[in-house]
Amino acid sequence: MLVEFQATEPRQRIVFSLKPTSLAIMFDEREVYSFDLEGRLLTAWMNDQTYIRTLDNRVVKKWRERHRGAPWKHIEELKPDEKRQFLSQVWSRMQALLHQLAHHELRVTRSDGDQEQVAEQLVHRLDQIVNWNVERLERERERFAAVYTPVTILPPDQYLSLVLQATEGCHWNRCTFCHFYRHQRFHIKSEEEFIRHIEGVKQFFGQGIRLRRSIFLGDANALVIPQERLIRFFDLINEAFIIADERARPEDDGSHVFRGIYSFIDAFTGYKKTEADFRQLRRRHLRRVYLGVETGSDELLKFLNKPATAEQALEVTRAVKRAGLRVGVIILIGAGGDRYFREHIDRTIQLLNAMPLGRGDIIYFSPLFPSPDSEYQQRAAEEGIRALTDAERRAQLDAIRSGLRFPKNEQPKISLYDIREFVY
Ligand code: SF4
Repeated sequence: MLVEFQATEPRQRIVFSLKPTSLAIMFDEREVYSFDLEGRLLTAWMNDQTYIRTLDNRVVKKWRERHRGAPWKHIEELKPDEKRQFLSQVWSRMQALLHQLAHHELRVTRSDGDQEQVAEQLVHRLDQIVNWNVERLERERERFAAVYTPVTILPPDQYLSLVLQATEGCHWNRCTFCHFYRHQRFHIKSEEEFIRHIEGVKQFFGQGIRLRRSIFLGDANALVIPQERLIRFFDLINEAFIIADERARPEDDGSHVFRGIYSFIDAFTGYKKTEADFRQLRRRHLRRVYLGVETGSDELLKFLNKPATAEQALEVTRAVKRAGLRVGVIILIGAGGDRYFREHIDRTIQLLNAMPLGRGDIIYFSPLFPSPDSEYQQRAAEEGIRALTDAERRAQLDAIRSGLRFPKNEQPKISLYDIREFVY
């Protein structure tokens, strides 16, 4: 539902967009704020910069360079004092808007519903929003930490999923380029722990859960859980939430419906799962698995200390697809620098073309951004490997893309995956 107001002091157009999942408020097409159904700030857009508030109350700012040829976005987390200032500014903006609305200082110029009822509803929503002052938002950090261990990465199409951590960390945790779970001990939750976790997650989100489209079973490779226990976890999820297919709509009684369950899988344990195993999970609403293939080159995989082979990645993909599931494969652009430039292109094309990928599947190209103190950087320096420039990474990506051959009506989606953009 859209409601539009005209303010006189200062003169501006204010548009409220009330959705079943969130509320957006736009000032003169210059500033836009969005909030979840509990009234917590989600995003803000102003001065061509986007601010995203994470569930543990960090604020990340994103912007693009205006000049042409800038290949990646700029992304930066606000420092604590900048964050407080920013949140306080948004709070004051909303407080002033509530005052204007409650004191009938705004003239309605468009309303999709009964004006008085709508105005009352908006006052209620703004009341909720200003209840989340800076201190209360800051306490979300502890509430989050009581329920979750850090959620460090998701595939881009799952950024708006509801994460349930059946496992914590990564059971391998030794790929040289990967820092996601370095300080995390790998742990598979017991059934009791997982039930408590689900309850905690529900309480943490409250009505904000309606913004979450699907369920993501974390962390890095939750499908490594022995099949019997994994099935029990899937059953628990299906008991706790309503889950349907990807076109799911809210039920008639307004209950929220999730569009399937998603998860990461790795090739070096995933290849042990059979088609029948995957079918059991599909019957419990698993829809797509994401496989960090990185490269089709076994040599490069060794250099990255990833204990998988291209053959295993192929086997997993085949079993997953035969079971009627979809797959997202992730390719690491720039891995192995100049030494592996050509090998990475050729082997990756070979592997991707051998995979039974089609409509509904995704190939993600993820540029490698290793931190200077990573094992990857140390090893690369020891072996005299030079990192690719932005232009070389782009050339590598284009070369792989141009070598892909899929039937015309069975093209997987191809997309860029910049891990620096991830926030939860
Ligand atoms: S890349 Fe995947 S398997 Fe390797 S350490 Fe990171 S999370 Fe674990």
